[in-house]
Amino acid sequence: MGWRPGNAQGNGSGTLSEDKPKRPGTRLVEAGRRQEWTGPVVNPPVWRASTHLYPNEAARKAAQANNVDGQFYYGRRGAPTQWSLCEALTEIEPGAFGTVIYPSGTAAIVQALMAVLRPGDVLLVTDNAYEPSRNIASGILKRFGVTPRFFDPLDVEGFAAQFCDKTKAVLFESPGSLTMEVQDIPALSAVAREKGAVSLIDNTWASPLGFPALERGCDISIMSLTKHVSGHSDVMMGSASARDERLYKRLRATAQQMGNIVSPDDAALMLRGLRTMEVRLERETKSALAIAGWLSGREEVAHVLCPLLPAAPGHDLWQRDFTGGCGLLSFILRGRREEQRAAFVDTLELFGIGYSWGGFESLVIPFDPKGIRTATPWPPGGWDMDDRLGIRLSVGLEDPQDLIEDLDRAFTAMDQA
Ligand SMILES: *Cc1c(COP(=O)(O)O)cnc(C)c1O
Repeated sequence: MGWRPGNAQGNGSGTLSEDKPKRPGTRLVEAGRRQEWTGPVVNPPVWRASTHLYPNEAARKAAQANNVDGQFYYGRRGAPTQWSLCEALTEIEPGAFGTVIYPSGTAAIVQALMAVLRPGDVLLVTDNAYEPSRNIASGILKRFGVTPRFFDPLDVEGFAAQFCDKTKAVLFESPGSLTMEVQDIPALSAVAREKGAVSLIDNTWASPLGFPALERGCDISIMSLTKHVSGHSDVMMGSASARDERLYKRLRATAQQMGNIVSPDDAALMLRGLRTMEVRLERETKSALAIAGWLSGREEVAHVLCPLLPAAPGHDLWQRDFTGGCGLLSFILRGRREEQRAAFVDTLELFGIGYSWGGFESLVIPFDPKGIRTATPWPPGGWDMDDRLGIRLSVGLEDPQDLIEDLDRAFTAMDQA
């Protein structure tokens, strides 16, 4: 195959992209397909391996002394299939030095936080964070001596006052899970930097195609690859991309010590999804915008939470900072009872009831942020207290007109319930 062990730099090289085409669609196609990893075929084969064999004792000793990317050593450090995915993710994340992959998005969040925190530190977490991220902060991290503090995602002025001399990291998420607040990341991350804290962002919604988080000031950009990168609802994984070598090495060393490994079969599936990500996101974004516009004209809907929509909250910041969107949006029913919301959800035929999002198929999930938040009220100030039942849609690749007709039928059923 022409593959020479020890010749490649593997993930974290960040060098290959210099003489490669820079536009996202092209990078998605080319990324990670080094000839020494693919051989004569298009995709890197699935290297299924625990043991790697050495030609002699000197080679084994050299590998042991040299814990760097792209070196065969032992299965837990991966092989070309995983290295190819890491390199591809680094190439599509502007400003990234290197990327570590994890068996889920949740594993990426907890391990990235553990890489930058130690007992006695304070961690600031945005109040609109994904619920398992909150649980990581209030659960395992707290148990290991880190104090979590939740902050208002939209309060830029008050943000600096959240810091004390023990604050060592901040976790952002924009747009926020379920409620879709867009955070002023350039301003907030500048404050974090000035205070000497590492800023991490859960960038799953936009991905680097829609929000180049490191270029906007963050230090570590995290994604649940389960969503857009996979795109097909059949594989779970997460990633963390770091802006510099020091942070990348901390992510990598932590992941190695925690025994973190992703199967090569899953990595190959993820690489397959990655190639078509831009076209899927473009289609989903267009459909989501059409659906959001249609929803905003419905009497049954009090608020559409979709920053793509010009009249929706967060649109100005989205317009200023983002280069793309996706199919995930929420809306709040005007009044209505829970049984009526259930009738709406149950009537839908094209939207499956299920967690996750970013797949080719549309999904729906009801949500109630009230019991989740601790730093900000729900419903937010200025809203009618009766307008509180949330519904989140993940708009897939179906024809948007069919999706709208499905939603229309569900509204009719809702008011008959
Ligand atoms: C799904 C999700 C995660 C977790 O990803 P898993 O791969 O399911 O563990 C993290 N953050 C956000 C915003 C998500 O939607």
